[in-house]
Amino acid sequence: MAVLSEVKKDYGKVRNFVNGEWVDSATKSWLDVKNPATTETIAKVPLSTKEEMTKAIEAAQEAWWAWRETPPVSRARVMFNLKAIMEREFENIARIISQEQGKTIDDARGETRRCIENVEVASGITTLQMGYNLEDGAAANIDEEVIISPLGVFGAVCPFNFPGMVPFWFWPYAVATGNTFILKPSEQVPLTSQYVFKLIEEAGFPPGVINLVNGREDAVNAMFDHKDLKGISFVGSTPVAKWIYKRGGETGKRVQAQGGAKNSLVVMPDAKLDNTVNNTLSSFYGCAGQRCLAGSNLVGVGDIADPLIRKFVEASKRIKVGYGLDESSNMGPVISEAAKKKVLGYIDQGVKDGAKLLLDGRNIKVPGYEKGYFIGTTVFDDVTPDMKIAKEEIFGPVVSFLRMKSLDDAIEFIHKCPFGNAASIYTQNGRWARDFRYKVQCGNIGVNIGIVAAMAYFPFAGYKDSFFGTLHGQGKDAVSFYTDRKVVITRWF
Ligand code: NAD
Repeated sequence: MAVLSEVKKDYGKVRNFVNGEWVDSATKSWLDVKNPATTETIAKVPLSTKEEMTKAIEAAQEAWWAWRETPPVSRARVMFNLKAIMEREFENIARIISQEQGKTIDDARGETRRCIENVEVASGITTLQMGYNLEDGAAANIDEEVIISPLGVFGAVCPFNFPGMVPFWFWPYAVATGNTFILKPSEQVPLTSQYVFKLIEEAGFPPGVINLVNGREDAVNAMFDHKDLKGISFVGSTPVAKWIYKRGGETGKRVQAQGGAKNSLVVMPDAKLDNTVNNTLSSFYGCAGQRCLAGSNLVGVGDIADPLIRKFVEASKRIKVGYGLDESSNMGPVISEAAKKKVLGYIDQGVKDGAKLLLDGRNIKVPGYEKGYFIGTTVFDDVTPDMKIAKEEIFGPVVSFLRMKSLDDAIEFIHKCPFGNAASIYTQNGRWARDFRYKVQCGNIGVNIGIVAAMAYFPFAGYKDSFFGTLHGQGKDAVSFYTDRKVVITRWF
């Protein structure tokens, strides 16, 4: 099958979009953006200065009041425009995601669809943002009502693994509810936002309502340090999520901070074996294992363990690793040389700790892309709960297989994990499924599903070290995060 064309080979200098204008950063610090499959530099991204972020916040604050006074139905109309434009540009968005992030074009198309779905849900803001009231709520002739109001300027700081979708968990809800916004994408994958912001510009948001500032520490610190910024939505690794939550506490900002993950997929003795293997494969290897919802531990309970691991390894061998824009590839590279080194380090560690390496992806060569950051499918057997490869986030296509005697043992193992993003059970037994759902302390629970990715009208949840805050992204939770309740009591003389 042919390799799809790239939207551009070289995107040049990445720009910021502030107050309705594209601007070059004045920073002296620039990073290369690389295509992880070819390792070619495809753009340069600025690490914008504190002053540049401050300017963007000021522009957003300036734009706020007029946008807040724009009726929700009119704000929704701009969202509808954007939806239509994004449908037109669907394939280009997906190709840029694949080119800069490395994931397969099918994964990238799925991600693009999720972006659009969030715009669709946010377009329903006229009903999502309705308040409530009670006649004579306080006493006769004293009515009480709650108005759901926007707060001002919000920002988001996003990870590299979903350059399209993660920003869309947040900004459409913030802007639809009448706030203004600053997006700071991951410096590793800034090109999807460059493209999407051209579409945002075309959709007709007034200048300053939605802004894009590229960068890293300085830009993020400037967000916390500005009095007009009301809150930050963050998605990324747990250490940075914890820091963001702490900084938010110190500076009085609202914070929602999604962190890392270590997800276990538990296969019970009565699971439908072939369906289970097919379903778990995409969980472990989609996006080269770089999803916060990716399976990382495969847990075989009882006598299904031997046939399960045998079939799983056979199927893993059939995963074709290659360039994401080659439609025949099933798995692309990891994001960078540093990420590859880290994942290979975990494989070495697993071997050192005595796990049995059934499938070794360390030395894979992808014809035509020999320099790329590829790692082949890797499966360990005989992993024990105390090993690092069973406990820590690897974020690559590495599967740790554990054998357990009972569902209780599996649940106990999940309880001990510091992360609480996702967990799945494969079974036909309702009692087991219910016990799992009830007892497991994770925000996203799958029953016969290995990627528990909530639709845009449900929240993207997370427990323990996978989430800091109270309200999640997407849907009603996002609307609540970006608004506050105003209680109004009226006495009728
Ligand atoms: P990361 O924490 O390295 O970076 C995330 C963002 O934080 C980036 O925009 C980066 O520029 C910024 N950042 C990093 N260090 C910073 C610092 N010291 N000061 C200020 N800003 C800083 O994460 P990543 O490697 O881009 O993403 C992968 C991680 O994200 C994984 O741990 C994955 O599990 C997690 N993730 C979680 C979810 C979820 O919903 N829970 C979803 C996607 C990804």
